[in-house]
Amino acid sequence: MFVSENLSVNEKNHLVIGKNDAVELAKEFGTPLYVLDEDLFRKNCRVYKNAMDKYYGGNGLVLYANKALCTLFTCRAAMEEGLGVDVVSGGELYTAIKAGFPMDKVYFHGNNKTADEIDFAVKNGVGCFIVDNVYELETLNETAKKYGVVQNIMFRIKPGVDAHTHSFIRTGQIDSKFGVALENGEAFEITEKACKMSNVKVVGVHCHIGSQIFDIEPFKEAADIMMNFIGDVKDKLGLEIEQLNLGGGYGIMYTENDDPVPYDEYIKHVSEVVKAAAEKRNVKLPFILMEPGRSIAAPAGVTLYTVGGVKDIKNVRKYISVDGGMGDNPRYILYQSEYEAVVANNASAARTEKVTIAGKCCESGDILLNDAMMPEIHVGDTLAVLATGAYNYSMASNYNRIPRPAMVAVSDGSARVIVKRESYDDLIKNDVL
Ligand SMILES: *Cc1c(COP(=O)(O)O)cnc(C)c1O
Repeated sequence: MFVSENLSVNEKNHLVIGKNDAVELAKEFGTPLYVLDEDLFRKNCRVYKNAMDKYYGGNGLVLYANKALCTLFTCRAAMEEGLGVDVVSGGELYTAIKAGFPMDKVYFHGNNKTADEIDFAVKNGVGCFIVDNVYELETLNETAKKYGVVQNIMFRIKPGVDAHTHSFIRTGQIDSKFGVALENGEAFEITEKACKMSNVKVVGVHCHIGSQIFDIEPFKEAADIMMNFIGDVKDKLGLEIEQLNLGGGYGIMYTENDDPVPYDEYIKHVSEVVKAAAEKRNVKLPFILMEPGRSIAAPAGVTLYTVGGVKDIKNVRKYISVDGGMGDNPRYILYQSEYEAVVANNASAARTEKVTIAGKCCESGDILLNDAMMPEIHVGDTLAVLATGAYNYSMASNYNRIPRPAMVAVSDGSARVIVKRESYDDLIKNDVL
């Protein structure tokens, strides 16, 4: 009935999330409110982990891509489900440390890690750096020397996957700010350079070809290309690369037009490609890493708003304004992303009119849903926007000095705050007069 599998409707015709009545949640915790279904978040972690066990003999590790939704709570949940984590900044790393994440399962990404971030990560014993460029490699080698350690690294490689038939945001092609390219020899050169350094050890290679991808083929293609690179490195440098990190990017259902592949299918198909390539190139079967973010967090999240002004501009457009918007969900203003919304207090009502749901920020582009079919909406209704678990809270801002919403985790009928609502005092706490 809804895009997210965990939602239902109760006898009051209210939306239900994790056995909690959404209207009651809005009353108890206020709006706007991020609601995270802990059980679904954890289940999504397990889908990947179980597939790795089933199709690849457990010879791998699923890393939760923290940037999708990074909180102490989600770090802890991913850890308890046996996942590792990928972090892309000192701040995400700090969150993982404070959540008690085992550092050997932390992988550090980013195309421009600062010297301070590198120092912080080495000092804290981060398991592996995904090195992006020569500057980072040199800084890292020096930093590891300073601390008297040998740092495990892998390189972020642009496999050059020909993605022009796929309409996703691409990061695997040569014209990308991320990583080193294969086709011009950059990837090989940086690997050769690292082999001569004393305080880094090349344990793996990494690629991430984009996000919200609905097709298995580009992942298979990327895996094959990366395996051939592993073969070339063995043949030419005598270096056996042990780990193959295939990134994230698995698509999810935001609206009923989206048609995602079951997540375990990726691991199934990619495992076959990797096994075949290992045999062909006579290299050891690598330890595989995957980095799903959106597909773990997004479906588990719902944002609740209260409807304020309704503005029916005859023959033009009907605007429904809510008490949040681009500050808590900037994805429409960034990418014109589409969502499904439900009137939580009238959840199974027929969708009879076309409306635009707008936020409260001083920007005309502050829209949550454009031209969406909705039931009649009234002032005071609770509106739920679905599948907002990823890239909402983590991309939120205080634009217009609007405090960021609270987040509650729901599980089997219970609900508790996992991120407090910001106060006005929080907004000025770093201001100096
Ligand atoms: C963003 C990102 C991910 C996660 O992508 P999703 O689309 O959220 O699965 C994984 N790895 C890297 C390197 C990324 O940049």
